[in-house]
Amino acid sequence: MSASEDIVFTCPECGETMVVNPAMQDALLSNGCVVCGASVADDAFEVADAACE
Ligand SMILES: [Zn+2]
Repeated sequence: MSASEDIVFTCPECGETMVVNPAMQDALLSNGCVVCGASVADDAFEVADAACE
């Protein structure tokens, strides 16, 4: 089992994308985008399917 799953953040305002962890996701939801400061909604995040073989 994998320790963590990748969460991909895409800013709806500036288009910045980055891989975040759950703590960073929580910070982004609270503080907004680190690049442009836009408020971030839950749908700005996607869980990446980390298929490792
Ligand atoms: Zn942004």
